[in-house]
This record gives sequence, structure tokens and C-alpha cells, in this order.
Amino acid sequence: MRASRDEISGIGMTSQRTRDRLVQRLRDEGIRDLRILDLIRNTPRHVFVDEALASRAYEDTALPIGYGQTISQPYVVAKMTAALIPEGIPGRVLEVGCGCGYQSAILAQLAKKVFTVEVIEELLVRAKQRFRKLGLRNIRCKLADGNFGWAQHAPYDAIIVTAAPTDIPQALVDQLREGGRLVIPVGEQGMQELLLGIKQDGKLEITRLDLVSFVPLVRGSGR
Ligand code: SAH
Repeated sequence: MRASRDEISGIGMTSQRTRDRLVQRLRDEGIRDLRILDLIRNTPRHVFVDEALASRAYEDTALPIGYGQTISQPYVVAKMTAALIPEGIPGRVLEVGCGCGYQSAILAQLAKKVFTVEVIEELLVRAKQRFRKLGLRNIRCKLADGNFGWAQHAPYDAIIVTAAPTDIPQALVDQLREGGRLVIPVGEQGMQELLLGIKQDGKLEITRLDLVSFVPLVRGSGR
């Protein structure tokens, strides 16, 4: 069943003013892309967290989503999204680490099609319910180890990884189209570098974007 308009926009639960304050904060921190700021203003982040945390959904902070995982901080979502789209809207995007689905929902409103993989089934089931509720029909989900990408739909114009490996998985480089963009946090737990890689002649040209803290990209689920 589709949610009512008010439920989706969050009127009464999280006021427009709270959302505007978040967007202002992102602007102050250097996020300039108006498409992204508008999407963050209009995408109901409280739908992606437990009801008990809904009142904190428009704070610029990561929040727990269960199973030891988190919903990314809005600033980081904005920054990663901005790094993927400077040359226009990508056709096909692969996301590794769907989690609650917030980043996928932002991407789905920019790209033609989003493919997202996740290793924790319960999170994926709930993310799918949210996509349905919000009427986002261009997201395909798969329970799989993102270290191997999703070869079936490659090549991708852009790939975003929302959990941190210690090295960039080669499958992701292989599944990125020439000229395509990969945004990925790389490093040990606690502190990683957010990297942008642009594929040139089969290899990534890397730029460092920021320091971030993501949950680890788990390895070896064998899928
Ligand atoms: N994209 C989310 C952030 C989710 S946190 C957001 O919008 O907020 C990172 C997610 O990556 C977790 O749900 C975790 O289960 C998942 N993950 C970790 N290792 C993975 C792997 N090897 N393949 C796919 N997903 C993985």
C-alpha cells in the first residue's frame, strides 16, 4: 500500500524548517549543487530510519539502522553524489552497500537506473519496501557481495561504494565504463580516504576528496 502524501513528505513529523536548516548547513559546508540540495530537502530521510530515531533524521549525522550498520551522514551522501555527476546525469549507476536505501533513493532521482547490492538480507527487504512506498521504480536490488560488483548489468557510468574496503576491488574497475566515475572510501576501520577514480585507458585516475568513516566492506561471503 502506498503511503499518504503527508506521511511521505513528513509534514507534522519533521517540519520544512528542520529540513531547510539541514540544507543550509550542507551549503555552509561547501555543497553547491542545487539538484542535490533540492533532493536532500525533498527526500524523506525519516522514512529510512526507525521511528524512534525519526526526530533526528534531519541532523547532519550518521544514525544506526540495525545489524551494526548506519545510514550515511547527509553531508557525505551529498559529497559522494556530487562527485558522480559533474558531467551530467549518469544512465546506470551501481551502488555497493544499499543499507537502508537512502543513498540509492537520492541516486534514483538523478540517474536513469540504479543497481544496488547488499549482504544483509533484512536490510535489503526493508529498503525495497521503502522504494515501493516512495514510488521509486528504477532501482534494482540484489543480495550479493559487492566485492564482485553486479556483472550482469555492466558497464556502469558510475559506481558508488558506501562501505570501506582496504583496496579497491578489481571487479568494480572492470565493470566501470571508460570515462566512468567510481567513488569509494578506502582504508582501515575508523578513518578512510574518500577517493574518486575516473577510468582512463582501463585504469583509475585517483583524486582524494575527503577523510571519512564508513563501516567496513565485508569480504568472503562467497556469492
Ligand atoms: N548506502 C547506505 C549506507 C549503508 S552502510 C545509506 O544510504 O546510508 C553500508 C552497507 O554496506 C551496510 O548495509 C553493509 O551491510 C553493506 N555491506 C558491507 N559489506 C558489503 C559487501 N561486501 N557487499 C555489499 N554490501 C556490503
